Amino acid sequence: MTRPISFYQQVNRSFDRAAAYFDHDPSLLKQIRGCNSVYHVNFPIRRDDGSIEVIQAWRVEHSHHKLPTKGGIRFSMAVNRDEVMALAALMTYKCALMDLPFGGAKGGVRISRQSYSEAELERITRRYTYELVKKNFIGPGLDVVAPDFGTGPREMAWIADAYSSLVPDKLNALACVTGKPVGIGGVRGRVEATGRGVVFGIREACSVAEDLRPLGLDPGLEGKRVVVQGLGNVGYHAAKFLQEAGAVLVGLAEYEGAIHDPKGLDLEKVVAHRRETGSILGFSGAADLPSSQDALTLECDILVPAALENQITHENAPGIRAKIVAEAANGPTTADAEEILRDRGILILPDVYLNAGGVTVSYFEWLKDLSHVRFGRMDKRFEEGVHRGFLQAIEKLTDRRFTPAEAAALTHGPDEESLVNSGLEETMVSAYHELRETRNRLGAVVDLRTAAFVDAIDKIARSYLEMGIWP
Ligand code: NAD
Repeated sequence: MTRPISFYQQVNRSFDRAAAYFDHDPSLLKQIRGCNSVYHVNFPIRRDDGSIEVIQAWRVEHSHHKLPTKGGIRFSMAVNRDEVMALAALMTYKCALMDLPFGGAKGGVRISRQSYSEAELERITRRYTYELVKKNFIGPGLDVVAPDFGTGPREMAWIADAYSSLVPDKLNALACVTGKPVGIGGVRGRVEATGRGVVFGIREACSVAEDLRPLGLDPGLEGKRVVVQGLGNVGYHAAKFLQEAGAVLVGLAEYEGAIHDPKGLDLEKVVAHRRETGSILGFSGAADLPSSQDALTLECDILVPAALENQITHENAPGIRAKIVAEAANGPTTADAEEILRDRGILILPDVYLNAGGVTVSYFEWLKDLSHVRFGRMDKRFEEGVHRGFLQAIEKLTDRRFTPAEAAALTHGPDEESLVNSGLEETMVSAYHELRETRNRLGAVVDLRTAAFVDAIDKIARSYLEMGIWP
């Protein structure tokens, strides 16, 4: 067994495996692979009891080949320089793969969110934003932040407000952050976007009979047995949309433990139970598993790790009984574990593709903020009028009347949420099939992660070559 390597080294290992397929100038590959800017800051905040605490935080811009850079902000005690560098690098490859016009970035604040009051979290978030502004690490054309583990629309609203109050150019200020509440420039559909994108990706993978046959699975999501680890933003929405698509949730895990019911768990009832009791455990009719990790080795078709990195390791990989590992979280499978899963014929849907729905819809939000107009505002009523005209012409020609329900369904014009969801679906579906094509072109030994890195490196290399710096 090889020695465990860090998260950033794991990302670079995927890069190196893919880079072997190119004969680019080694200095170009070196430029693409390394982190362009790493900012580490310590800042003091006042606690509610009057004491002062010094907080550590980072912002890493991995690649400036396209600007702005883009990436979430994580609040967690596990945050460190290596983790933020790894996550920033993953963002670069994710944006390139999905054809989003951004370089990759990531931020992290080393705190345990549960240990602070709302007022303290607001002071931390605002002070962190101030530190980013001081060093030009945030801005609509520089570096655009977003939610990640431990942060959500509330923190993004504080960032938007702090940034707007600090900079002289207010016109596009709100575009410095995505994942905001809709009332202050957020876009409808962003909160659920990552989980929805995860399910679009799994659905596409489960639609290709030829890929499912070796796994012993039939096409379609209906009846597939699923285990989800982590019921936060990404895990909750992935579980919700999987259940709506007919999949059966046989296991759910949170940090306090996991529950198992081969007949299926009702997600909303589990969430209500956790809200009431403070724990996922003790849910009626389900078996309790003492550790979240125990859920990973449950018998199922699709395992969805949606919490944190390094969950599937060389220790538990031999016991994984899923046929598909759908990486909703970033970096949930270590490099050692990946080799074990690959040798065991388990299909991995890689994070760099599968959880890209969040940044895809963040891109739509950024566009909305820069254009200062809601999607659908210009064309919704116009299109409804055109559709009504068609229906009236059909009614005249056929002497048949549409029912009010039929007419409403057929004339419905595009509103913001339907446009965002359709843009997300288009992006996830076309990227999956491009990825498969690359994998098939490179040969049977190539996995989807390597194919994703090959596509991403190719696109980034072309950007550099077009700048005329490299021969
Ligand atoms: P979140 O904070 O909303 O949710 C994380 C959940 O995981 C929480 O409910 C937490 O209690 C739970 N958890 C923590 N440790 C656990 C453990 N050991 N076992 C089981 N559950 C555990 O975070 P999120 O935004 O859903 O992010 C989850 C993952 O998805 C992260 O890897 C993040 O980088 C990735 N991701 C998030 C987004 C996004 O838009 N939020 C986009 C792309 C990728």
